[in-house]
Amino acid sequence: MARYTGASCRLCRREGAKLFLKGDRCYTDKCAFVRRSYAPGQHGASKKKLSNYGMQLREKQKAKRIYGVLEKQFSKYYEKADKMRGITGENLLMLLEMRLDNAVFRLGYGASRTEARQLVNHGHFLVNGKKVDIASYKVSVNDVIAVSEKSRGTEKFKVFAENPKTLPKWIMSTPENFEGKIIAMPAREDIDTAINETLIVELYSK
Ligand code: SF4
Repeated sequence: MARYTGASCRLCRREGAKLFLKGDRCYTDKCAFVRRSYAPGQHGASKKKLSNYGMQLREKQKAKRIYGVLEKQFSKYYEKADKMRGITGENLLMLLEMRLDNAVFRLGYGASRTEARQLVNHGHFLVNGKKVDIASYKVSVNDVIAVSEKSRGTEKFKVFAENPKTLPKWIMSTPENFEGKIIAMPAREDIDTAINETLIVELYSK
């Protein structure tokens, strides 16, 4: 599966916002965006007013980067969201939230979505008792996500389980069992990522 392998902090600087791609470092003064809050490159520091199209494009890029999804896959998510009942932008965010790597991140396994994705790819998780190592796997309501027996004994997973995160309403966790369960579809108000999905819909509707 293709993925972006360049510098994460550069992406935040390009989008003009903290995207929290590097876990704990993002909350310290080592954050590159705190130190240089302008776009990378020779002309990055010069202020440019964005056109409507520019704002729509940047919002799409921001969403892609937060969830670690490349262009083609993102447009497939959009097509799917557009065909679903309800509000397309909200459907799009819901589909992104229901990716296995995101659910694992929400459960507190991984300091960032990138780390959660790596843990999934390395086969540390089971969904309903079966090993799933595909980060884009779409979880559904009532799915149980569990750390594999083998991985539970490792220090890394013990630390995750001992430091539970605040969970969104659509997911519950029993850290003592190294398990989580999807209890609802994520509603818009349960998704705290700073994305204006309306701009993305406007972009794709052109
Ligand atoms: Fe973005 Fe985190 Fe890098 Fe700061 S440390 S620029 S929030 S990825």
